[in-house]
Order: sequence, then C-alpha cells, then structure tokens
Amino acid sequence: MEIEDLPGVGEKVAEKLREAGFDSMEAIAAASVSELKDIGLGEASVVKIIKAAKEGIKNTPEMGFETGIEALKKRELIGKITTGSEELDKLMGGGIETQAITELYGQFGSGKTQLAHQLSVNVQLPEDEGGLGRNAIYIDTENTFRPERLMSMAKALKLDPNVVLKNIHIARAYNSDHQMLLAEKAAEIAEEYNIGLVVVDSLMSHFRAEYTGRGTLADRQQKINKHMHLLQRKLADAHNITIVVTNQVMSKPDTFFADPTAPVGGHIVGHTSTFRLYLRKSKGDKRVAKLVDSPSLPEGECVFEVTGNGIQDSKNKD
Ligand code: ATP
Ligand code: MG
Repeated sequence: MEIEDLPGVGEKVAEKLREAGFDSMEAIAAASVSELKDIGLGEASVVKIIKAAKEGIKNTPEMGFETGIEALKKRELIGKITTGSEELDKLMGGGIETQAITELYGQFGSGKTQLAHQLSVNVQLPEDEGGLGRNAIYIDTENTFRPERLMSMAKALKLDPNVVLKNIHIARAYNSDHQMLLAEKAAEIAEEYNIGLVVVDSLMSHFRAEYTGRGTLADRQQKINKHMHLLQRKLADAHNITIVVTNQVMSKPDTFFADPTAPVGGHIVGHTSTFRLYLRKSKGDKRVAKLVDSPSLPEGECVFEVTGNGIQDSKNKD
C-alpha cells in the first residue's frame, strides 16, 4: 500500500508528507496528530489519515503477529543450497538457508566471490542434488562477476553452461543508492524469474568509499540498515530466498588493539545477518571457514578448497 491510498491523500498531500519525512505507512501510523498538523493539514483529516494508516499496516508482515503454528509452517519451507563442499554444508546445518541473510566475510582472496559464484550455479540444481531448482540474481559492485568462471563450475556439475548463465541475472551497481534500488528491483522480479538466491558482492564497498568522515558514519549505518532490512523482508522472507552478502575485512596495522578481522560495517551488518561465515586462506587452495554467528547452530570450523572446478571438500586433510 502506498501513502496515496490513504483517504484524502492526493498527490499534493503525499508530496508534503514525504517532504516532512512521513514517507511510509509505518511512519504515518506512528505520527502524532500535531506533527501532521504542522505540515498544514486540518485536524479532522489528520485523524482520519493516521487511523487509516494504522489499519493499513495491521496485516503487513511488519506489524502482524503470527501464531507459533504459522511460524513453524513458514520455517518448514526453508530450503538449503549446497556449497559444493560437504564439510562446509555440515557446518552450515546442511547448506545455505533461504529466509536468511548469510554474510561471507574475510580478506581479499579468501574465496567470498568464488563461493558466491558457486552458489549461483548450485541454486539451479534440483532439490535432491542440493539446489532449489531456482535462479539467481547477482548484484555486483566491484566488477568481479565472471561468466567464464560460472561456465567451468557448471560444466564440472554436468550442467549446460548456457542454461546456467541464462538463469543468472546480473546487475552492476554503480554507487550505494543504485545498489539499494537494485535490491528493490530484485524484489519486484523475484517471482517472475523464479529467484532462489540473491547475492550482493560486495555489500560495503560503495558505502565505504562514499561515507568516509566520522560525521557521515551514522548516515552510512542507517542506510546499510535499511538495505539489509529490505533484503531480509522483501526478498528473504517474502519470497523464501537465500541472501548472500560478501564483506571484506582489512587488517589494520595502524590500530594496534583493534580486532584486525573486524568486518567493515561493524555491528549493523553483524546484527542484521542471520549467519556469519568468516573465510580465511590456508595452505595452497585450502580455505578455512568459521561459523561465527548463528541462531541455532554451534560455532565451528571446517576446511574446503577453491579448485578449477569450483568449491569442493579438501582432499588431503593435513
Ligand atoms: P576480495 O575481497 O578481493 O573480493 P574474495 O574473497 O572475493 O576477495 P575470491 O575472488 O573469491 O576472493 O578468491 C580469489 C581466489 O580464488 C584466487 O586468489 C584463487 O586462489 C582462487 N581462484 C579463483 N579462480 C580460480 C580457479 N579458476 N581455479 C582455482 N582457484 C581459483
Ligand atoms: Mg570478491
């Protein structure tokens, strides 16, 4: 529902409301009569508008309480995408879940983009082979999406590489606002394109580049928060989708006592993603994955490999 759907709210009033920051049904429902009167509306119509906004959001997912039975039914729909490595799947409780955001974080070359590519292929596998039989959206902010790489991964799984490429919808995000718009667009096309996975690779690079000074940090956090909530509510929850975001961590040699593996974006990202997987390089092709945060799985570690064929279990276990 748009705010134009409220009684007595035409284009002009809607514009006034938006300008004053009342840009959603929730914002209007939570407003006081005097606040809305301040922007030049009569008391009677203000009362009507707020009442209708409250009615309007009653049955939206944001406002509705659901019974435990309904919550359970929804959770029974959760699907899991195999990573290609049995060990990593086990660590993640069987694969990367739908209805959740999984954050892959780690230093450059730790395998975040490789794993995101692999999942974009694997989501297309039938359910009995570890996929969802659905397609992928890939929001690429660093220009590191490589169709050739996907083709090798597809071939290794005996999938038709052209079909696999056709089922991945890639968009290059030019800045953080564009990135946020693309996420909204993704929500609009999710059903039509049978989307089971949405990747944002990487979540923070634009935000990091655009919001530098201390003063802008709060704005940045607020925007990321909004972005993450949209990914969760309008994609993961609304369409039973798996969300994977990548996040680079940089060692900070100048800050001696700070955690050198602190993810960019700090706590906002941490608290809004459901699963957090820390990746690091090990010997040769080996990578170590550590599950850092999960609502119901034990923390733990495993080893996997990035090979020419994609993500796999490590053969030699030393
Ligand atoms: P960044 O933070 O820079 O985005 P990342 O975590 O996304 O890093 P990836 O791009 O996933 O890193 O990993 C790159 C690494 O993956 C390479 O250094 C290489 O070790 C490995 N890799 C990439 N392609 C192949 C391939 N075809 N065969 C084997 N290993 C590969
Ligand atoms: Mg990358």
